[in-house]
Amino acid sequence: MTATSAAFIGHGSPMNAIEHNRFTDAWRDFGQSNPQPRAIVAISAHWYINATAVTSSANPRVIHDFYGFPQALFDFDYPAPGSPEVAALVAEIVQPVWVGLDADSWGIDHGTWSVLAHAFPNADVPVVQLSIDANKPLDYHVDLGSRLAPLIDQGVLILASGNVVHNLGAIDWNAPNHGYDWAQRFDDDARHVMLDEPSAFAKLRDHADYQLSVPTPDHFLPLAYLAGIAAARGATPEVIVDGCVMGSLSMTSYVISPND
Ligand code: ZN
Repeated sequence: MTATSAAFIGHGSPMNAIEHNRFTDAWRDFGQSNPQPRAIVAISAHWYINATAVTSSANPRVIHDFYGFPQALFDFDYPAPGSPEVAALVAEIVQPVWVGLDADSWGIDHGTWSVLAHAFPNADVPVVQLSIDANKPLDYHVDLGSRLAPLIDQGVLILASGNVVHNLGAIDWNAPNHGYDWAQRFDDDARHVMLDEPSAFAKLRDHADYQLSVPTPDHFLPLAYLAGIAAARGATPEVIVDGCVMGSLSMTSYVISPND
């Protein structure tokens, strides 16, 4: 089986699904640099619930979980199949951590499809989503990431999708290509942790800029999964694109290559 890779993608605005910019170019290049995966396990900021579950439908629905955007975005389709087989594999490989099989309450949300629209535009790779359990501590998510790491050797690509810095209340529409000092500082320090000591990921919680950068954990936690994978494999993630936009959003994205 061809080994594939794992990534954390800073997905930003849903509009990135249908726009082209330096971030979406990097997502496209990431997809093209991979051998065709057997399946994609996606951990999206937008499936943040009170349980750890994995979508198990063979035909997951495409979820348009946003409002106030152009019709083109609501019309967007990403008709990738699911994979009951890979869902079962996820539930098995993370044991004794319990993962529920979700038949139809969720599907593929925009955290996932806005990225896959560029990385795997043909929508021909099966996709399963893993939820983020909002009740669990940070260490749980790092640990769960490490448990998923062996999937990479079985041809499964792991895609975590969120934003290192995500504070919608502080958005500055006049700074399309800049971040506040605190946002840039937190993004830089998160990078040091990801590259040098991903097993110490939890220390970011004590960072002076954490509260402003991570007012709610949903977009930050997907990065914990990649930290867990990096720690488990002794791998050093590569930054494929970086930078803050609109003051309080970091678009920095990381990839762990199959050889790491
Ligand atoms: Zn989002």
